[in-house]
Amino acid sequence: MVIVTSGTILPFAFSRDGAQEVSGEEGKADPMTTLQAIELRCPVCENRFRSQTVISTNSFGGKRTDFHERAAGTQPLPYLIHTCNRCGYSGSERDFTEEVDVSPGLKEHVWNELAPAVASGNLTGSEKYEAAAKVAEWQSLEPRHVADLLLRAAWCCVDEGDIEAERFFRRKAAWKFEESLDSFDGVARDERAVLTYLVGELWRRVGDAKVARDWFDKVPNEIVDSQTQQWVIDAAKQQRDCPREWFG
Ligand SMILES: [Zn+2]
Repeated sequence: MVIVTSGTILPFAFSRDGAQEVSGEEGKADPMTTLQAIELRCPVCENRFRSQTVISTNSFGGKRTDFHERAAGTQPLPYLIHTCNRCGYSGSERDFTEEVDVSPGLKEHVWNELAPAVASGNLTGSEKYEAAAKVAEWQSLEPRHVADLLLRAAWCCVDEGDIEAERFFRRKAAWKFEESLDSFDGVARDERAVLTYLVGELWRRVGDAKVARDWFDKVPNEIVDSQTQQWVIDAAKQQRDCPREWFG
């Protein structure tokens, strides 16, 4: 069982001890995703509302080659982002704490661009991540952070069965990851290889084989530790020459 922490950054670890071995244990272990009701206070409009959060989950559903980790049972992703049901402000639980600083400009964006959507009903997981990505952009957060939210929007679309929206968010995520790789210190040196791989994989899944190939071919040049990062080189070569849907 994986205990969920508040961090949102990609689960980079490439483990071979995941899906295949554990799936044989299904039924014996307790693979459930556990949700809990929480009360949040919106920093934009002061509304107090209830949401559901993830207490624990699992990765028994395997990991896709774009790092989309799947749980057996309920998928946790839609419950890791919360949306104010009054104004539409969206983010992770820590984006609803007292310390969050909201500028007048951010409030205006939220009321103008997010409030209309929540008025028409509950948002899907991908819509919540899209809203959170907009909030992060309005707060001028790092492209890497925005990219992470857009990638999760795409992952939610997979579960929602919306292929067109999935491609839309994959493209947007790829551009944002590219922007973070282009910036001077947007990505730690030892994470550049895996993000370069990920950009390639996003373009491959969008259906742009040529661009995907260019990115996969850049991976070897981004390696800083050939021992611990050999798997990234292998993964890039695999996805370039003979792509697979799942790791492991
Ligand atoms: Zn609100």
